[in-house]
Amino acid sequence: MRILVTGGAGFLGSHLCDRLIRDGHEVVCLDNFFTGRKENIAHLLVNPRFELLRWDVIDPFKVEVDQVYNLACPASPVHYQFNPIKTIKTSVMGAINCLGLAKRLRARIFQASTSEVYGDPEVHPQGESYWGHVNPIGRRSCYDEGKRCAETLFFDYHRENKVDIRVVRIFNTYGPRMHPNDGRVVSNFIVQALRGKEITVYGDGRQTRSFCFVDDLIEGFVRFMNQDQSVGPINLGNPGEFTMLELAETVVKLTKSKARIVHKPLPADDPKQRQPDIALARKLLKWEPSVPLAEGLKRTIAYFRDRV
Ligand code: NAD
Ligand code: UDP
Repeated sequence: MRILVTGGAGFLGSHLCDRLIRDGHEVVCLDNFFTGRKENIAHLLVNPRFELLRWDVIDPFKVEVDQVYNLACPASPVHYQFNPIKTIKTSVMGAINCLGLAKRLRARIFQASTSEVYGDPEVHPQGESYWGHVNPIGRRSCYDEGKRCAETLFFDYHRENKVDIRVVRIFNTYGPRMHPNDGRVVSNFIVQALRGKEITVYGDGRQTRSFCFVDDLIEGFVRFMNQDQSVGPINLGNPGEFTMLELAETVVKLTKSKARIVHKPLPADDPKQRQPDIALARKLLKWEPSVPLAEGLKRTIAYFRDRV
C-alpha cells in the first residue's frame, strides 16, 4: 500500500514510518517540522519507497494513498501551549482535511487521539466508555478539546459519509527520538539526570502516569489499523502505573546520576492519575505491552546519552 503519515517526522510518526517501510509499504510523510525533526527520518530519505512533504495539515492537500495515519499535532504540554490557537486548528482543521482526503480516496484513516480526552479522570482506570472530565477553558484545553473535537469529526464522517475510521486513544508513550527539549516528563528527567541538573518533579510527585514504550505502541497501531471488527475508540498504553517521584528515582538509579530531585509548582489542571484499561485491546488485538518500564527507560537513556 501507499500510506500517508501526517506528523511523520515526530517521535511516534518516525517510528511508524520505519515500521511501515519495514512491512514493505510506500510511505508519504507529511510534516511542518514544528516539533518534528529531519534527524528522525534522515535514514529513510534514501529509500525510494519513502517521500517527504513539508506541509501544514491546516492547509488542504492532495495525495493519492490507500491509508492515512493522522498524527500531526504537538503532544507535549510545553509545545501545545506555545501557540494554543494553532494547536486547536491543527487538531480540528487537520482532521477535516485528512477526513476529506480519506472520503475522496475511500482510504482507511487512523486518528492519534489521546488519554487527555478523559481529562482529570474521576474513573480509574479509564475505559473507553468513560466520557471524561475536561476543563473546556484551561491551559490544556487547546489540546484536550481539539482532540475531542477531532474524535467527533471522525465519528460524524463515519456515520454521515461512511469513512472507514480507526480511532486510538494513546496513553503516555516514551522512547528514543523524543525531543530533548520536549518538556514531557520522561525526556525531562533523563536529560536532567544525564546532565547532572536538578530533576524537576512538579507538585508533590504523587500524581501518576502509565508509560508505554514506543515499540509496543506502534505494534498496537498496526494491528488495530488492519483489523475489521472495530473502528474504536480503543485505548493503547501500558497499565503499569507509577508516581512521578517513583519515575524520578528510577531514572536517577538507571543513569547512576548524582542529580538532586527538587519540587516545582504543579501546572494547572494537571491530571492526578492516569491508567489505561486495555481489556478491549487485549481481546480484539491480542495485544499488550511487553517492554517493562526499567527496560524501556534503559533503551531511552542509551539514545539520549549520545545526544546531551
Ligand atoms: P511529536 O510532537 O513528536 O510529533 C508531532 C508531529 O506533528 C511533529 O513531527 C510535528 O512537527 C508535526 N506537526 C505538528 N503540527 C503540525 C501541523 N500543523 N502540520 C503538519 N505537521 C504538524 O509528538 P508525538 O509524541 O510523536 O505525538 C504524535 C501524535 O500522537 C500526536 O497527535 C499526539 O497528540 C498523539 N499522542 C501522543 C502521545 C505520546 O505519549 N507520545 C500520547 C497521546 C497522543
Ligand atoms: N512532570 C514533572 N516534571 C517535569 C515534567 C512533567 O513532574 O519535568 C509531571 C507533570 O506535571 C505530569 C506528569 O509529569 O504530572 C506527566 O507530564 P507530561 O508533560 O509528560 O505529560 P501529561 O501531563 O500530558 O501526561
